[in-house]
Amino acid sequence: MLTQIINGHILTPQGWMKDGSVLISDGKILEITNSDLAVIGAQIVDARGMYIVPGFVAMHVHGGGGYDFKEATPEAFQDAVEAHLKHGATTIFPTLSSCSFNTLKRAAEICEGMMAEKSSIVLGLHLEGPYLNPKMAGELFADSIKAIEPDEYKDLLENTHCIKRWDISPEVEGAHAFARYIRSKGLLAAITHTEAEYEEIKEAYAAGFTHAAHFYNAMPGFHKRREYKYEGTVESVYLIDNMTVEVIADGRHLPSTILRLVYKLKGVERTCLVTDALAYAACDNPVVDPKFVIEDGVCKLADHSSLAGSLATMDKLVQTMVKAGVPFCDAIRMASETPARLIGVDDRKGSLQKGKDADILIFDRNLELRAVWSMGVLVENANTMF
Ligand SMILES: [Zn+2]
Repeated sequence: MLTQIINGHILTPQGWMKDGSVLISDGKILEITNSDLAVIGAQIVDARGMYIVPGFVAMHVHGGGGYDFKEATPEAFQDAVEAHLKHGATTIFPTLSSCSFNTLKRAAEICEGMMAEKSSIVLGLHLEGPYLNPKMAGELFADSIKAIEPDEYKDLLENTHCIKRWDISPEVEGAHAFARYIRSKGLLAAITHTEAEYEEIKEAYAAGFTHAAHFYNAMPGFHKRREYKYEGTVESVYLIDNMTVEVIADGRHLPSTILRLVYKLKGVERTCLVTDALAYAACDNPVVDPKFVIEDGVCKLADHSSLAGSLATMDKLVQTMVKAGVPFCDAIRMASETPARLIGVDDRKGSLQKGKDADILIFDRNLELRAVWSMGVLVENANTMF
């Protein structure tokens, strides 16, 4: 079947195109043309002047729809993924925070089962921890962190093929050998929960850590120790030109000034938007653990001492960036093109281009998400617009 989306502003790699068409066939983008004359035999979708943009690539997300990926059940994976898909995440790398290697193996098995399906939007797994600096791990991870054991991570990576990204603290013993090894297996290596300063970050980068997880969160910035001042992890990451970052743009984890600063200094090509969402995201009536409270659209520790995690969805991140003063097209690219390239799926995902998967979103003039196509199938259609 041939579908033709017309009458919208299409975001192509060359910029916005008006009055063109996106032609979809067999789950792929058959063509993007600058004409919106109806193609014979095509089913026409009228975008009514709205924005037609690529689907989002979610590469740091712990759960949604009431499920955490750590539950490591097919149901948890299925439902959490569905919940985020409705909000524009047409490609998902489920994140598992610090947990036992048995749980990781179980999750990998489920993930590989899903990836075997042709229409799977899950394209791999992302691990955060358990090799974390105890001082920076935070209350949530405190019980599950451990020292690096090379046999353990090698065994996991040799017996699975779905893990695409792994984040640890670069200052823990054995971290550099870990980074070199996981890079040799094709994974993206990221720093997280760290207090490393410039020299350590420079060495970590040379060892293969090229990305900084939830930039600014769980890492220090410029600070004072006694009478002298020191750069933090944040400034160190800025100083390494090719190091990439991701921000939790939920409007709570970072103020809009900082979001704008990251955009200004790192730019579209080196910044990704991530939800880092908990199970309570994209969930109408979450049953919240008594350790937490949900307030102001974010999850906090019950004693209000700290944020515990985000409830964001990918569409929300884009809206927050625009509110912070970032052009809509750049916010979209940071949620699609950049993460697709960093995690290595840009041959199929991340932009509206001939031959790529037909993962397409429609946003209205108020930047509300109205429709989602996943590999050519209309999976979300708010207010039955189309
Ligand atoms: Zn996380």
